Amino acid sequence: MPFYDYRCNTCQTEQTLFYKSYADYDQATPHCESCGSNQMKRRIGRIAIAKGEAARINTLADKALAAGTDENDPRTIGRFMRQMSQDMGEDLGAEFNEVSDRLEKGQSPEQIEKELPAIKQEE
Ligand SMILES: [Zn+2]
Repeated sequence: MPFYDYRCNTCQTEQTLFYKSYADYDQATPHCESCGSNQMKRRIGRIAIAKGEAARINTLADKALAAGTDENDPRTIGRFMRQMSQDMGEDLGAEFNEVSDRLEKGQSPEQIEKELPAIKQEE
């Protein structure tokens, strides 16, 4: 079951929304469970949630946010993820590198998911 973290721009509540399928996610307009607003913003940390490396990637993304990168500027996240991977001295996989590349070029997580269908296939 796909799920995504959101932050409500109206009341600032952070919440996780679940979808029955990716098709549902594509069609749905997220609404805040607290105030009902539809001003919901996807949090960037949940890219590639379904993949094997997802937990590690999410941890890196959380660290990136904690380190003061700008959630609204994917390039800062991409640069941070690449730096972390170099610091760890590990190859985190082709997909990790692809996501980092695309973030660095300024693509949004939504664009990346659309263009990298492999991310969406597994549940
Ligand atoms: Zn709200």
